[in-house]
Amino acid sequence: MGTKGISIVNMDVDKVIGLLNKAFADEWLAYYQYWLGSRVVAGPMKEAVITELTEHAQDELRHAEMVANRIIQLGGEPLITPQKWFDETNCGYDAPSDYFVEKILEQNIKGEQCAITVYNDILTEVSNKDHVTYNLALQILEDEVEHEEDLQSLLEDIEVMLKK
Ligand code: FE
Ligand code: FE
Ligand code: MG
Repeated sequence: MGTKGISIVNMDVDKVIGLLNKAFADEWLAYYQYWLGSRVVAGPMKEAVITELTEHAQDELRHAEMVANRIIQLGGEPLITPQKWFDETNCGYDAPSDYFVEKILEQNIKGEQCAITVYNDILTEVSNKDHVTYNLALQILEDEVEHEEDLQSLLEDIEVMLKK
């Protein structure tokens, strides 16, 4: 924990840690939802969907690491038990219990749209107050915007194929 690094945060540091821990819970749940989805998914264009879901799972895990590092840098503690993920999550967890590609993609699109809102709100909250967290949230937001677009394009292609 760097004292000068913390002292330049021009807002309640515990509030920043709280926002980051909620996002941290979201990232783990998103990781698991993608990871499991990539195992069970079935239906047309399955291979392309598996590739995308697997990549996104790795991105969400990397986001969890980035967020955890910032929490620790601010003198906080990343949520110490998986049970806490459900107490703190903004976006929740959508179990991939229906394996069909369209259903899995729709669930993950909903998750990405929630993640976009979460990071956009964090950016508004810390803007001009915590530049380091701002930069982190912006990097992650860029990934989430890309994720949403990837999944929506894939879903469109599948729907064309199914002539919907
Ligand atoms: Fe993420
Ligand atoms: Fe994402
Ligand atoms: Mg992608």
